[in-house]
Amino acid sequence: MAVLVTGGAGYIGSHMVWELLDHGEEVVVLDRLSTGFDWAVPEAAELVVGDIGDQTLVEETIRRRGVDAIIHFAGSIIVPESVADPLGYYFNNTVKSRALIESAVCCGVKHFIFSSTAAVYGTPRTNPVTEEELLQPESPYGTSKLMTEIMLRDTAAAHDFAYTALRYFNVSGADPKLRTGQSTKGATHLIKVACETATGKRPSMDVFGTDYPTPDGTCVRDYIHVSDLVNAHYLALRRLRSGAGSLVANCGYGRGYSVLEVIDAVKRVSGKDFNVVESGRRPGDAVAIVASAERCVSELGWRPAHDDLQEIVSHALRWEEALARRNRL
Ligand code: UDP
Repeated sequence: MAVLVTGGAGYIGSHMVWELLDHGEEVVVLDRLSTGFDWAVPEAAELVVGDIGDQTLVEETIRRRGVDAIIHFAGSIIVPESVADPLGYYFNNTVKSRALIESAVCCGVKHFIFSSTAAVYGTPRTNPVTEEELLQPESPYGTSKLMTEIMLRDTAAAHDFAYTALRYFNVSGADPKLRTGQSTKGATHLIKVACETATGKRPSMDVFGTDYPTPDGTCVRDYIHVSDLVNAHYLALRRLRSGAGSLVANCGYGRGYSVLEVIDAVKRVSGKDFNVVESGRRPGDAVAIVASAERCVSELGWRPAHDDLQEIVSHALRWEEALARRNRL
C-alpha cells in the first residue's frame, strides 16, 4: 500500500513526502519536474516522472504500487501568470485534476487530499475567515482551485470516495532538519524574497504598497510553517482512512503579520539590515487575510508545532544558506 503524492518534487510536496516517510508510509511521487527538482525527492520514495493528466501512467502507477490515497499538490501557482494565461491555468489545474480524480475513481482509490488555497475567498468580508465565507476568487488561479474543489464534492457524492480540501494561507519556512525547502527559482513570496535579500542573492526588495488601511499601511497575511501544513495533511490522511467523510478546512494559524513586520523579523533573525524599497501596490493583493483555524484543530486534531514567525523565518533563512551552498557545488 502506498500514498501517491503529485507534485512531490516541489516545495510543499517534498515536505509532504518526508512527513509520510517519517510516519513509516510507502510513497510514490508523480512529478513532471517542470518546477520541482528530482533531488528534492528522498531516495526512500519512488519518483515517477510524468504528468498527472496522463491517465495511462497514473493508473498503471496506482495499480502497480497499490495506492490507497492520493495527495494532490501538482499545479500552477502564480496568480499574475494565471491572469495572463487563464486557459493555461484551467488546463493545468482544473482539467488535469479532473483526469486525476477520474483515475482515482477508476482504480478504486477512495481517499483524496487536495491542496486548495485561501485565494478561493478572494477578498473576505471579515477576518478571521471561516470556511463558510463566500467563495469569490479574484484570479483564474483561485477559480481553477475552486473548480477542483467542486469536482471533488460532486465526485464524493456520486462514488465511494472521500476527500479533504485544505485551503492554505501563506505557506513558508523549511524543514527544520533542512532536508528540503523552497528552492523554486524566481520565487515571488515575501519570506523567500526577504531571505534572498538578507543572504545577498538580491540587492534589495520591494514593499508593495504602504497606504493600505492596516496599522502600518502594509498588507496583512497569516504565515504558516510548511511542516505544520504537511502535518495537517497527514492527519487528514489518517482521518480519511478511519472512514470519516469529506472535509474542507483552512490551514493557517489565525494570526496576521504585516509585510513590514515580516521584513523586520527577517532583519532581526539574519542580523542583516538590507535595502527595502517602498513601491506601489501590486495588482490583485487583498488588504488582509487571516484564517480561522478552528476546524483544522477540531476535525483533524491539529496541534501546530512551529507557530512562531521568528522560527519560520529562521528555518527559511537556514534553507536559503543551504541552497546557496548546494548551488555553488
Ligand atoms: N510582498 C511584498 N514584496 C515582495 C513580495 C510580497 O511587499 O517582494 C507582499 C505582497 O504584496 C503581499 C504580501 O507580501 O501583500 C504577501 O505576498 P506573497 O506573494 O508572499 O503571498 P500572497 O499573499 O500574495 O499569496
